[in-house]
Amino acid sequence: MHTTYNDLVFEISRKGRQAYSLPESSIEKTDLDAVIPAHLKREIPAELPEISELQVMRHYTALSNKNFGVETGFYPLGSCTMKYNPKVNEDIARYSGFSNIHPLQPEMTAQGALELMYRLEENLKEVTGMDAISLQPAAGAQGEWSGLLIFKAFHEANGEGEQRKKILVPDSAHGTNPASAVVAGFDVVEIKSNKEGRVGVEALKEAIGPDTAGLMLTNPNTLGLFEVDIVEIARIVHDAGGLLYYDGANANAILGKSTPGEMGFDVVHLNLHKSFSTPHGGGGPGSGPIGVVDYLTDFMPSPRIEKNEDMYKLTYDHPKSIGRVKGYYGNFGVNVRAYAYIRSMGAEGLRQVSEDAVLHANYLKARLEPYFDTPFKSICKHEFVLSGNRQKKLGVRTLDIAKRLLDYGFYAPTVYFPLIVEECLMIEPTETEAKETLDAFADAMIEIAKEAEANPEHVTGAPYTKSVRRLDEVTAARKPVVTYQRETGAE
Ligand SMILES: *Cc1c(COP(=O)(O)O)cnc(C)c1O
Repeated sequence: MHTTYNDLVFEISRKGRQAYSLPESSIEKTDLDAVIPAHLKREIPAELPEISELQVMRHYTALSNKNFGVETGFYPLGSCTMKYNPKVNEDIARYSGFSNIHPLQPEMTAQGALELMYRLEENLKEVTGMDAISLQPAAGAQGEWSGLLIFKAFHEANGEGEQRKKILVPDSAHGTNPASAVVAGFDVVEIKSNKEGRVGVEALKEAIGPDTAGLMLTNPNTLGLFEVDIVEIARIVHDAGGLLYYDGANANAILGKSTPGEMGFDVVHLNLHKSFSTPHGGGGPGSGPIGVVDYLTDFMPSPRIEKNEDMYKLTYDHPKSIGRVKGYYGNFGVNVRAYAYIRSMGAEGLRQVSEDAVLHANYLKARLEPYFDTPFKSICKHEFVLSGNRQKKLGVRTLDIAKRLLDYGFYAPTVYFPLIVEECLMIEPTETEAKETLDAFADAMIEIAKEAEANPEHVTGAPYTKSVRRLDEVTAARKPVVTYQRETGAE
């Protein structure tokens, strides 16, 4: 084959080749020298690829085929909720009335958009059990940071801002939790999980004190386990004068079943791009709305949306607010998708989401338990963790299992996270998969477990079927080559 579609677009370029030949322009040529100042002109002509339209099509189609998304195959990336996102939500987000408006146009002319945001806030109040919602934060991590600024504002308003400097975070937490706490100006105190993989009441009591600003918790946690002591945990934190933050990235496990409000949390974020149907994984945009209980509403980001008679408006007069946390009003397109998703699912549908997500995870866990170490035996919620320790003794690491899965056509689970499980594989099947898909994945995992026993080198050499084998990840991260280099190997 003389053309591999692996070539860079510059490598298939041939001088003078073009997609179209345009007729000579009848408009008189402008004297560019007179218009563009000399110092803004490039000295060497731009080097652009010169190729035909068909070559362009093949080039980009080949690139897209190298990509993997939830529409390509099963994507059990734990904690990330890589579920299928119904296309009707995409259609609605593209309606001209939603996509061709400007955030600075007069409110009178954007009533529909404001109404949608207002109604989404109302829906999210129900989902979270909170008293007020702000759609501003652009992602979960930014929701965390905004929520912690609210913690800070609350303690300052009570004259305890200087004293309450510590945020408690369990050792199973997502890395964004301690990071957000530090960025918000707090010190992080780690709480060790107990043998069951949960926050132990005793460990919490030991760590908590008059310097505690609050506790951040994910429930179910990143091991897929429900914090069964949550009501007591909330009481302990509140009795000590602290607040509770709910990392809602795992909301897919509790929709329509329970709310962070009922559990005793004070501030919540949801990752709309995870649980509420926006394609994610490519870097955004996301949306991480926060919700708060009534005694924290004054501190919410500004502006806020209000309904007055039948008019919707943004209000800016909130003297205790932590201020604006995001340009304009959040990522509106993600809000449209979330609203369309919630309305098309209905309360019943959302409950079904979490029931199916939990059922699928427990089914996979049960099928894989005989072949992999399972550090936590109890029923899981929407995801579960395995340990590759048994395979490690045979010379096969979790990374090898993940790479080998690619050959079987599956995206790999989250690996080496949470940090507290050795050789961790974290698997989240989501509710949108068919049983046959779950079975095919289980079969592949079992096959790999058998390969690890019979022929470990075959697993450690994977992947065999991808356009690249194993990358040197350290070099890729430390010395990335992100622009075209004419001579291979040239810096
Ligand atoms: C994804 C995730 C986050 C961070 O959310 P982003 O939207 O990616 O910023 C926080 N906590 C948990 C448990 C997550 O899975």
